[in-house]
Amino acid sequence: MRTSTLARPLVVVAAAFALSAGALPGDAAPPGVGDEIDGAGLDGSGPDGRGGHHGRPPAKVPVAVGTGGAVATVDPDATRVGLDVLRRGGNAVDAAVAAAATLGVAEPYSAGIGGGGFLVVYDAATGSVQTLDGRETAPAAMGSDAFVEDGVAIPPEEAVTSGLSVGVPGTPATWQAALDTWGTLSLRDALAGATRVAERGFVVDRTFAEQTEANADRFADFTSTAALYLPGGSVPRVGSVLRNPDLARTYRLLARHGVDALYTGPLAREIVDTVQAPPVAPGSTRVVRPGLLQPADLAAYEVVPRDPTLVTYRGLDVYGMAPPSSGGSTVGEALNILETVDLGALDETQALHHYVEAAALAFADRNRWVGDPAFVDVPLDELLSDGFAAERACLIDPAAALPKPVAPGVPDGTYGPYEPCAPGGDAATETPEGTSTTHLTTADRWGNVVAYTLTIESTGGNGIVVPGRGFLLNNELTDFSFTDTQGGADPNLPGPGKRPRSSMAPTIVLQDGRPLLALGSPGGATIITTVLQTLVNRLDLGMPLDQAVAAPRATPRNGTSIQAEPGFPRAGLEALGHVFADTPEIGAAAAIEVLDRGRFLAVAEPERRGGGSAGVVRPRR
Ligand code: GLU
Repeated sequence: MRTSTLARPLVVVAAAFALSAGALPGDAAPPGVGDEIDGAGLDGSGPDGRGGHHGRPPAKVPVAVGTGGAVATVDPDATRVGLDVLRRGGNAVDAAVAAAATLGVAEPYSAGIGGGGFLVVYDAATGSVQTLDGRETAPAAMGSDAFVEDGVAIPPEEAVTSGLSVGVPGTPATWQAALDTWGTLSLRDALAGATRVAERGFVVDRTFAEQTEANADRFADFTSTAALYLPGGSVPRVGSVLRNPDLARTYRLLARHGVDALYTGPLAREIVDTVQAPPVAPGSTRVVRPGLLQPADLAAYEVVPRDPTLVTYRGLDVYGMAPPSSGGSTVGEALNILETVDLGALDETQALHHYVEAAALAFADRNRWVGDPAFVDVPLDELLSDGFAAERACLIDPAAALPKPVAPGVPDGTYGPYEPCAPGGDAATETPEGTSTTHLTTADRWGNVVAYTLTIESTGGNGIVVPGRGFLLNNELTDFSFTDTQGGADPNLPGPGKRPRSSMAPTIVLQDGRPLLALGSPGGATIITTVLQTLVNRLDLGMPLDQAVAAPRATPRNGTSIQAEPGFPRAGLEALGHVFADTPEIGAAAAIEVLDRGRFLAVAEPERRGGGSAGVVRPRR
C-alpha cells in the first residue's frame, strides 16, 4: 500500500486473485436513487453516433431522510452505487470508495484515477477523526521555475492543457489506503459497481453535455479524448448513453493487480508516455508542452495519513484537512475569528459582514503561510490559535468594510496589542484556481462518517485521456504559484516531489465526540467559503441543513470585489463599503447531518451544477 506510515506488502495482489467472481456490490442492484436508467439499449453504440441509445437521466433527489446509512454526491449513479454498498453491509469508507469510483465514470471531468484528493474519516471504532492526503505530487525533475520560460510565466491557458501540469495521481492509492485502514471490502469489490456503470454506460445529463461542450475544442485536439468524449465528432446528446469500456478494463486491472498496476505496472509507463508525448491530433495547432514525469515519480508516490485540523466552534469540534490543503486551516481560522462575536444575535447585515471579513482575513493568511509542509514551515498551530484569531478579529470594523486586500497577520505566538490592532504587512495575492472537483459524503449505521473531496483540477483535467485507458489526467500542478508573488516568501512555488496547495475542505463536525455534520464542496478556492458559509448558515443562522446548502452564496477571498450569486443579500453590505461582482453559481456541496433515532439527513444541491443526489438506505421521516 502506498502510504508513508501504513506499510502493506503485496499480499493484496494474491488476495485479489483469490476472490470469487461471484455477486459483487453493484451487480443486480436493488432499486434505489437513480435506478431509473432504462435497462434496454445500454450498449452505448447506437446508430446516431453520438453516444448511443437513449435513456432518461436518472432522477436527482437533493434531500433524503432515513436510517441505515446515507450518501450525498453530485451524481445519482454514484449515490446509488454507494447506497448499494451500504445495503450489502459495507461501511461508510467502502461506500465512499465505491461512489468515488463511480464519479470517475459519470463525473469524469471532475474526478477520477488520474487525479487526487483528501479524505476525512470519523472512525467509530476509535472515536477519532483521521485523514488521508492523496494529493498529486510534482515530478522529481520539477524546479521552482518549471512554469517560467525566458523569465516569464507561461500563459495559464497553455499550462492547463499540457503534460507539464500533470502530477502523480493520488486517487488510486487513496482508495486502497482507505479500504486497508477502515474498509471491509477489497478494492475489487469496491470497484465492481463503478465498473458496471462504465460498461453499461450512464445517461448523459445537461451538466455533462455542457461541460463537454465547454471543453470540445481542446478535447478535439487529442485523439484519445475525442474518441471517448466526442463520439462521432460531436458532444454527446442529453439523454444518450455513454459507455467507457476502456475504463471498465482499467478498473478490472486495478481490481486484479492492485493499484501497483498504476504506480509500477503497465499503466505507469502509459501515463508517463502520455505526459511526455501527448496524443495531439493531426492538424492541431495547440501548443502542448510535454511533462517531466518519469516512472520513478509514480513508483515513489505515497498517500500521507495526517492529523486533521481541529478548532472548537460554539462548543462543537470542527475537523478539517491539514496542509498541503488550506481547507482546514482557512475554514478553522475564519471560524475562530467568527467565534469572537455571537453571530446569531446580530442582524443579517452584521452577521454577513463578519462572515465576509473573517473569510477575507483568513484568506490573507492562507495565501501567505500555507504550502506543502514537507517543504515549508506552515505555522498551523498558530494560524488556528484563539490568540491569533483575536488579533485578526480586532481588525473588523462593524461600521465599514476593511480596504481590500488586507495584509496577512503574523502568527508568531505573540498577539496584540488590540488597541490599536496590530498592523499587517503587504497582502499576498491569490493564485487563480479552477472550478472543477467533486465532493461526496457518506455515513453508515455503525457511526462511521466520510467527507471526501477529489479532483483532476480543471473541469476536464488537462484534457488528455490516457489512450486506451478511459481516464483523464490531472493538471493539478497549475495550483502552484508560477512565479514568486511574495518577495521570496511564496510557500507555494513548485518543487521536486512537492504537493501544490489545495483549497479542498472536507469537514466533519463532532458534538460531544459524535458526528453531527459532514460536508464539502468543489469550486477551487471557493470551496473554503462554501464550507464556511454553510457551517455559519447551519450553526449560527438557524437554517436546517438543506436550506444552509441551498442559500445564495458569496465567496469573499480578500479580493477587491466579492463574487456573489443572485439572491445573496448585498444591499446592507454595499452600504458598509463591500463591492460585489456577479457570478451565476458557487460550489456544489454534499452534506450529511446525523439526526436522532439513528436517522440521517443527506443533502445535495437542489440546483447548482444541475442538482446533486442524496440518498439513505431506509427512507424514514
Ligand atoms: N485544484 C483545486 C484545489 O485543490 C481543486 C480544483 C477546483 O475545485 O477548482 O483546491
